[in-house]
Amino acid sequence: MRHDIRMRGFRERTEVDDVVRLLEERVRPLAEEAVALVEAAARVLARDIVSDVDVPGFDRAAMDGYALRGSETFGAGPYNPLELVVVGEVFPGRPFAGIVRPGQAVRIMTGAPLPEGTDAVLQAEAAEEVPGPPPLVRVTDAVPPGRHVGRIGEDVRAGTIVLRAGRRLRPQDLGVLSSVGVASVPVVRQPCVGILITGNELLPAGSRPEGYRIVDSNSVMLAALVRRDGGNPCLSALVPDVYEDIRSALRGALENGANAVLISGGSSVGQEDHAPRVLAELGELSVHGIALRPASPAGVGFVEGRPVFLMPGNPVSCLCAYDLFAGRAVRRLGGRSSDLPYRSAVLPLGRKITSAVGRVDYVRVVVQDGKVEPLATSGASVLTSTTRADGFVLVPRDSEGHPPGDSVRVYFYDL
Ligand code: AMP
Ligand code: MG
Repeated sequence: MRHDIRMRGFRERTEVDDVVRLLEERVRPLAEEAVALVEAAARVLARDIVSDVDVPGFDRAAMDGYALRGSETFGAGPYNPLELVVVGEVFPGRPFAGIVRPGQAVRIMTGAPLPEGTDAVLQAEAAEEVPGPPPLVRVTDAVPPGRHVGRIGEDVRAGTIVLRAGRRLRPQDLGVLSSVGVASVPVVRQPCVGILITGNELLPAGSRPEGYRIVDSNSVMLAALVRRDGGNPCLSALVPDVYEDIRSALRGALENGANAVLISGGSSVGQEDHAPRVLAELGELSVHGIALRPASPAGVGFVEGRPVFLMPGNPVSCLCAYDLFAGRAVRRLGGRSSDLPYRSAVLPLGRKITSAVGRVDYVRVVVQDGKVEPLATSGASVLTSTTRADGFVLVPRDSEGHPPGDSVRVYFYDL
């Protein structure tokens, strides 16, 4: 597809599902890297983690009380109390030196190793200590062996998998990894994503709009989306609508280590839409023009195996193209599921949604009193339609839309 289709329009558009399939086939998770445990939250585990230790590594008290031999207490009761001699005390990290003999007990604190010779703990609340010498503990109920004892390996058994590859690490996962003695964690590398913003009319984010010039919205939006999806928006540039400038910006991003590049603007068939030809020249323009509204002038290609996305400049289209295509690649590169990261729910429609057969529609909706209402505005340039919306509905290609009362799946922007 090296020919120039500027000012001629798309002859045919690729189906959304085919683009998704292409990305599934061609985009693979990055290699792993080791990160310190404290840095590993929300990262994706690259390998199964097998513990080579038991946790705990010893039997320990689960309560404050007295360690004793359970078998000795059988038959003890309020009218038949058993008195044991308290021969010492143990604390967490400080074991009892010696063996506890029949007729003896040891004061024990939660987490302390069970002294040799004992196999159960009498809770402090259920015990009565008689001051000595020698101090005695009075037992008025049976304490079966194992009572209030945390067994060796009860939390983690040596040789078992504690967390599997692909896991997005939760805070408590880090706690478990620490407990088995892991100091650095093998995680999937975070994709470095280049964001190239094209448009002669654009002022950099942080400016005020001025005359006929507008302020770039897409770089900040895309950077936040990339971060949300586990990527690192590591390179960003505002590039004029000049073929050579776009080409050298794309080259530069790839040379500087971008694992994927998003090019905003200039993706269509207008006179100043250079990005498709740049991509075709430097690599492969696999898809240009997609049966999707908005975002039909989107494209996908690869340079040296790295995905490059042509994102329409209209901010709503840009968001849509990210949600449906670029986001999949970012998530997949970083080892996450490529599926939409949004929470979703199936809810009844309050007002009809119209759509044309032959394309997927990305319809911004609000949910009011449990009912889904499409937003009236359809303009891809009205970005506030996405801030007023609670989420979006995807109308499938073969559907003409939905009458009121139909159930539709809403994807919510708020996670
Ligand atoms: P383009 O895709 O370059 O043809 O741009 C389509 C429309 O989106 C034009 O009205 C542009 O001014 C606008 N646009 C392009 N890029 C951006 C951007 N980064 N932020 C806000 N609007 C943009
Ligand atoms: Mg433009």
